[in-house]
Amino acid sequence: MATGQKRAQNIGELKASGYTPVSVREELRRNMIKLIRDKKNIFPGIVGYDDTVIPQVKNAIISGQDIIFLGERGQAKSRIMRLLINLLDPEIPVIRGCEVNDNPMAPICRACRDHVAAEGDATEIEWLPRNARYGEKLATPDITIADLIGDVDPIKVAEGRYLSDELTIHYGLIPRTNRGIFCINELPDLAERLQVGLFNLMEESDVQIRGYHLRLALDVLLVASANPEDYTSRGRIITPLKDRYGAQIRTHYPITIAEEIAIMDQERRQFSGDEFEVYVPKYMKEIVAEVTHLARRSADINQRSGVSVRVSIANYETIISNAIRRAVTLGERLAVPRITDLPFMVASTTGKIELESFEETKEEKILDELTRKAVQAVFNRYYQVPKLEEIVMQFNGGFSVETAETMPAKSYVRDVKDIAGLATAVKAVEDSERPETVASAVEFIFEGLHLNKRLNRSRLEGRTVYRK
Ligand SMILES: [Zn+2]
Repeated sequence: MATGQKRAQNIGELKASGYTPVSVREELRRNMIKLIRDKKNIFPGIVGYDDTVIPQVKNAIISGQDIIFLGERGQAKSRIMRLLINLLDPEIPVIRGCEVNDNPMAPICRACRDHVAAEGDATEIEWLPRNARYGEKLATPDITIADLIGDVDPIKVAEGRYLSDELTIHYGLIPRTNRGIFCINELPDLAERLQVGLFNLMEESDVQIRGYHLRLALDVLLVASANPEDYTSRGRIITPLKDRYGAQIRTHYPITIAEEIAIMDQERRQFSGDEFEVYVPKYMKEIVAEVTHLARRSADINQRSGVSVRVSIANYETIISNAIRRAVTLGERLAVPRITDLPFMVASTTGKIELESFEETKEEKILDELTRKAVQAVFNRYYQVPKLEEIVMQFNGGFSVETAETMPAKSYVRDVKDIAGLATAVKAVEDSERPETVASAVEFIFEGLHLNKRLNRSRLEGRTVYRK
């Protein structure tokens, strides 16, 4: 509909405008093809799926297929589903007041059919925006046919109305999303009789409510999500419903550390109006991402439920906040996360992962182990340990250094002056000479030397001491 043009207000005006209704699948397909042709970014904010998930979603829409996304938690399944809204027309005409968004040219509900029969072209229409044509529901065992599809009013039935008279129906979520997209999250948790109901509705346009057969010729694109193991477990999904989904698309976690970091930077909660600066060195971002990647391969962690990118995002927020807390406490202007901030990630990690065994104290130990491995892996990508021998030598004869998350950045600058070779090593990861960035790099180097067995480390009352 061109802007400025007066929108049709009734069926007569709509016909005169030349409007031809299309099914939701035709509409999605037409808009998808146009967006591809115009080289538009159809799934903004989705990172790392360009060559895997997104081409499959495009194919499914072009095919007019219902879609099921299979993936562990935190793989952007819900976000992709919601972005499908952008493939709908900005608005479509519906019969005014209709509960099931009836097409003015071909209403399916009894109330609208009666209305059109009586009023003809004068029947009023309204324009439905696309975000009102999307519905979603998390499948839980307590969902009923009434919630999802609808219910009949027993009083009206008792009054003698026929059940084929749809005026007695109270429509559920799916009919209310007619001519739109309906998503069911965690489909295997839906009770079997609801799965049967859903299948009949989609396949036969036929539904049984309280033992009565009703015809509901809905026009809905059905999308679902499921954990892959739940979905393939025998008996969790009825076979005909499985067959109904034309496209089964496997989602995945970010394959590279760079993709994990891109998501962390994009998704972390940001605030404005702070009087201090925040700077996160690249190696610190890599350590946070590496912890998550190692967790996804850890035998101690339940991989069936997975390790969400939300772990990376929350851990990233945590180390930044610990750096801010330090900066504010010490009166420093620049907040830079460093190695001694990493143990605080325990608050943002536990609760988002499930352990294979159920010992309570184990979570901190597992995170500590993952963190050590992550720091070492990242450190060894930046440094060749033998080239740092000049630094290590100066620890001969009982020399030691201390680090702490509460220690002012200036004391690390003193270390750089005292220890030959340290300044060069700092420069290898950080150009800036601001004390806060230097402090972070110094901690990274000492910890890296410790993890490579070049320095000993002891921890005492929040302080870490490195010595030979
Ligand atoms: Zn209607």
